[in-house]
Amino acid sequence: MAGTFSLSIVSPEGDVLKEEVEFVVLPGGAGELGILPNHAPLIAGLDIGVLRYTLDGVINRVAIAGGFVEVVDNSAIVLADTAELSQDIDLARAVEAKERATKRLASGTNEIDLRRAEFALRRASARIDASEVKK
Ligand code: ATP
Repeated sequence: MAGTFSLSIVSPEGDVLKEEVEFVVLPGGAGELGILPNHAPLIAGLDIGVLRYTLDGVINRVAIAGGFVEVVDNSAIVLADTAELSQDIDLARAVEAKERATKRLASGTNEIDLRRAEFALRRASARIDASEVKK
């Protein structure tokens, strides 16, 4: 058996998840980051995206919007700017946020607004991807 390790996800809102898991894939700043039990110590920045963790062979999804992960002593601690478990995602809100951001991008205002809209679009897309409603 491959074994397990502890995964904790914390956001400014509080504790989001603490579970013994088999495998985690994170949206790292330099691409996807896979963590198995007994991984070497690591600190990495995170991008906007979907974190996937495997528990009893089932893949679960969490939308995150940047932050850091620290892996040490067979535990992974994710400090996320925002984090929502798939079942906690309001899909309609994310779809509306995506539409708003898409319109703002198309209307081509100033550079700061465009960058803000681009990040809002990426956050909304990650939430839609992670939502359990959408398969
Ligand atoms: P919106 O425009 O819908 O507020 P946003 O990307 O600007 O989206 P954030 O600033 O990233 O929102 O998040 C603000 C708070 O709302 C965070 O606590 C985040 O977890 C939560 N949140 C944002 N969108 C959703 C969603 N679709 N479902 C559940 N929680 C959400």
